[in-house]
Amino acid sequence: MLRRFRGGVHPPENKNATRDLPLRPSTPPPFVAIAFAQHIGKPASLMIKPGEKVLRGQKIADASGLVSVPVHSSVSGTAKTVVQVRHPLGYMMDALRIDNDGQDTWHPEALKKRDPASLSSQEIDRIVCEAGLVGMGGATFPTHVKLQPPAGKRIDVLLVNAAECEPYLTADDWLMRENAESILRGAELFARTVGTERIVVGMENNKPVALASLKAAREKLSLGKVEILPLPVRYPQGAEKQLIYALLGREVPSGGLPMDTGVLVHNVATCYAGYEAVAFSRPLTERVVTVTGPGVDRPANLWVRIGTMAGHLLEECGFAPGRTRKLLVGGPMMGMPMRDLDFAVGKGTNGILALTDPADHLYRPCIRCSRCVDGCPMGLYPCFLSNLGEAGDWATAEQYNARDCIECGVCSYVCPSRRPIVQWIRLEKAELNRLRSTAK
Ligand code: SF4
Ligand code: SF4
Repeated sequence: MLRRFRGGVHPPENKNATRDLPLRPSTPPPFVAIAFAQHIGKPASLMIKPGEKVLRGQKIADASGLVSVPVHSSVSGTAKTVVQVRHPLGYMMDALRIDNDGQDTWHPEALKKRDPASLSSQEIDRIVCEAGLVGMGGATFPTHVKLQPPAGKRIDVLLVNAAECEPYLTADDWLMRENAESILRGAELFARTVGTERIVVGMENNKPVALASLKAAREKLSLGKVEILPLPVRYPQGAEKQLIYALLGREVPSGGLPMDTGVLVHNVATCYAGYEAVAFSRPLTERVVTVTGPGVDRPANLWVRIGTMAGHLLEECGFAPGRTRKLLVGGPMMGMPMRDLDFAVGKGTNGILALTDPADHLYRPCIRCSRCVDGCPMGLYPCFLSNLGEAGDWATAEQYNARDCIECGVCSYVCPSRRPIVQWIRLEKAELNRLRSTAK
């Protein structure tokens, strides 16, 4: 039985501009800037010297701890210097610039086929780590860590997140339409690695072609046990905790993780990349990005090399800076503002939006309407939490479960006073994390 999670909203979908546009490769970038910190955890350590020739799929920086993954060159060419690119959160970070020789020569290690059926769970986990896989729905948590739940945590459901509930974005929709078999094969590999046979795919019911593709792939692969469940369109249906509740009726406890309810969640793009890594030795060097919004004349769903600069993609899509008021990395609800074009596509980048509405810099006092409270899918008091963030009262914010905020942006979306509620709560969470790490 499907359930409806508490709160949530139904913003305009705005997916029509790219809904009928199949995937195509972006034009080759003249260079890429590949960041060492595209994942949650420790940045990867550079292992290439300036001037060295590199091949596509070659490791250029290695994992520097358990919660870390390597990064690989997404083009063949010449390594230049370490440059600075902007993190989606706004700060600058190190990246290796590689000039593209246009030959697209793969590293020989990235051309080996394997038989996934012959591999043990440990071997799959190691391959996934070496391929640099992270959660590609935006969370960017290293995939190999999620595939190794701690002792005592038993996973009985592999949940494939195919919701793509953010307005404007159709990257996952098209990945499913064109690569449904690989996605299901990847999900099967992940499920086997954590020792479960139950696979549940949850998607919003606004993707009928993707749904049909997945069902056809299930039949072709004789995976009759895979449950593919369409859900009503309601934001944030694709948030892990809301998806788990809607599909399985399990509630992730406050401060807990999906694995506390026996569930492992992976996005469709991660499942696809997992199969590519295991069956074809392909490290993560490209991903699908939706470039759209009224500020571009030629919206597109593009296969984009990791490290491609935002300016290159926007130019390809007919960027009109004169009418664009806001650039976002990601969707309009959870996306981060792009301050300039120093942003390079990372493993977690699913969209680039050029919006023409005026940026909301002016906000008014809270009128106590409680719309943010009614809409919050986590049952929080966003108006109160945002006041605490504005006042810098981190301790009280922690008492009122600021950490449980999933940063879905529903509160800011519904607020008639246009208060930047989620931004203050993000600040609170960052401060609480900083205080926790300095106290260690
Ligand atoms: S407080 Fe957090 S979880 Fe609640 S609506 Fe706002 S952003 Fe979403
Ligand atoms: S929605 Fe805005 S105005 Fe209404 S209670 Fe929340 S913060 Fe206040």
